Parts: sequence; C-alpha cells; structure tokens
Amino acid sequence: MTARAKIFIVYAGGTIGMRKTPTGYRPEPGYLQHLLDQIPHFADAELPAFVIEEFDPLLDSSDMNPGHWLRIADMIRRNYAAYDGFLVIHGTDTMSFTAAALSFMLEDLAKPVLLTGSQVPLEELRNDAQHNLLTSLLILGRHHARLSEVMVFFANRLFRGNRTSKVSVDSFDAFASPNYPPLGRVGIDIKINWDLILPARARTPALDMLEIVELGSATVGAFRLFPGLKPSMLEAVLAPPVQGVVIECFGAGNAPTSDAAFMSVLEAATARGVVVVAVTQPTRGSANLSIYRTGRMLLDVGVVSGFDMTTEAALAKLFYLFEKGFSPTRVKRLMQQSLVGELTVPSELALAGEQDTLPWTVADREGAT
Ligand code: ASP
Repeated sequence: MTARAKIFIVYAGGTIGMRKTPTGYRPEPGYLQHLLDQIPHFADAELPAFVIEEFDPLLDSSDMNPGHWLRIADMIRRNYAAYDGFLVIHGTDTMSFTAAALSFMLEDLAKPVLLTGSQVPLEELRNDAQHNLLTSLLILGRHHARLSEVMVFFANRLFRGNRTSKVSVDSFDAFASPNYPPLGRVGIDIKINWDLILPARARTPALDMLEIVELGSATVGAFRLFPGLKPSMLEAVLAPPVQGVVIECFGAGNAPTSDAAFMSVLEAATARGVVVVAVTQPTRGSANLSIYRTGRMLLDVGVVSGFDMTTEAALAKLFYLFEKGFSPTRVKRLMQQSLVGELTVPSELALAGEQDTLPWTVADREGAT
C-alpha cells in the first residue's frame, strides 16, 4: 500500500473561514480548523493527511500585497521537504494575482501548489467551501506526484494559476481561464487533462529545497485605456520611478495612435527604459501588436505584445523580471515568451527571433499552447 500523502495548508484568509458578526463577515483565528473538526469527511482516510498553518492576522485578500505573497512562499519553503503538496486557502478577490505571483516566485517548484477559497463561508448551511476544500485535497492527495505547478481549483475546474481571473462576485463558478483550457474537470469523477499539465522544469529541481524570489521592490503598474483618456494621465502613470506598466488595450492590442500627444508620452517612457506591455481588454484573445496598423504604431514606439496574458499574470511577471535585475531590453524579450505557461505565443511568431530561456523555466508542451 502506498503511504498516505501529506499536504501542508497555508490558510491566508478569505470568506471561506469567515464568521458572521454584527459588523459583517470577518476571519477569526482557529475558526476554520474548528469547523473542519466537526465535519467527519475531513478525517476520511481517502483524503491525504493535512496540517493547517494560519496567517496572523488572517486577511481579506483585498489587503494582500507582495509581502504577503512572500509570506505564503516562505511558509511553503519552510515545509517543502516534509510535504507532498501545498494548498493555499485564500480570499477570492486577489487569488489570481497571488497565483500568478507564486508561479514566478517559486522558481524550482517540483511539487504542486493549489489555491482555493469560496464564495460562501464554510459555516453557512449552503456553501461552496466544503466542496472546494475537499476536492482540492483529493486532487493533491491522488495526483501530487505528477503535478508541479501553481494551480487554482474552484467550483468544478482545475486551472493553471497564472491563467486565471476572478469573473463573478455571486456565482460559485467565480474563476475563468479565458485563454487556456482547464487542466482538469470535476463531475462524478475527477478528470485531469494530462496533456495540458506543465512538464518538469528545464533545471531538475530538488525535492527537499525550494528557491524563491521575493517580489515587491520593483515599481510596476497596470492601466486600462478608455476613449477620452488625457495623455497627461498616461504620463502620470508612466512617470519615474515606474519601471514597467501593463496597458489594457482595445481589441487585439489597439490604442488611440492617431493622438500624437498620446504617442509621444509612450515613446518618451519607453526611451527612458520603461517597459510597456499591451494586453487586451476583452477577456478572451491575444494582444498581438503586429496585426493592425495601430498596433504596429505601438510597436514602433517601443511597446511590446503581452499576447494572451491576463493583466494579473503580466503584472506579476513584470514584478518578477525586474526583481531578477534584468535590463529593460531583456525584460521586454522575456515578456513575450512563455516562462511558466502564462502565455501563448502566436504560431506565426513562435519561431521568429531568438529564444531567451531561463534555466528554471518550463518548456511548453508541444501542441498544448
Ligand atoms: N473579500 C474576500 C477576500 O477576497 C472575498 C472572498 O474570499 O471570496 O478575502
């Protein structure tokens, strides 16, 4: 008989373990563990063994910042050798940002890290918390040996973490992965699509040691274009000490390029070394600046395509690449390549230009992206 898997749970906060109080739902230390102790299913031998370590204080995820990403990463690192997989219980509001950040921070990851949360607290009669928690634990328990990426499980789908966005405040199906299929689906059975799972890292990582990269010292941001935008506003967004900005463009990477003042603000920023990355406002699709004339004009002033990255992933990636100390030229190049499955390079561009692989990145599975 194979040994029962051991899962380490980082409980960062979120609705899932909150308690109703006269002033609204709020997290309370020890309360989630107290509730779990009363549900016999969580002691079932079919589940992996697990321990929970809580954040102090527990957070509503809208209060999270890169320092909290580091705290999660550090809790995983300290327990890395002793456990087979890691579950991060997290508020839904910024879960996709944390998942994206961890996917870059945990450079040597060789074990699964899964984030989940819920829309309704576990203490409520009708909730999604029990299902999300139980199923996450089952996935980690059964499949930990074949999974080594940062994922999100929510409702009935398992996603690559850095492909997700929160898309609903009131549906149990709160997350989507608009540009990459779910890694798994849960119905009567739990089905993993093994063809989509990231293969092992280029550099063979150790199973007892984890390298993490601290994020947060870079000054990066995100900005949504809109008709009527005053160039002076964009100028403020791109002003020093900003190093990189994700611009949510119209359609396939379009912007008001006939506005000379807008273009000169962009050109001045990229000339100073600010990395400006275009992603698309529509939830689905890719910002490929080589398609339309307006896109090409953005390329001409130094903007780069972020293709089908979510804003969450593009932002986390900028934090990460600047943290590594790379030059703006290298950051630009790497923003257009997949490092850990966060983007799909359009096939016509895939072979063009030099590839700048990093020793710890994960090779794309042929045909998967
Ligand atoms: N505001 C909560 C949080 O993100 C929402 C949730 O967990 O669903 O922590």
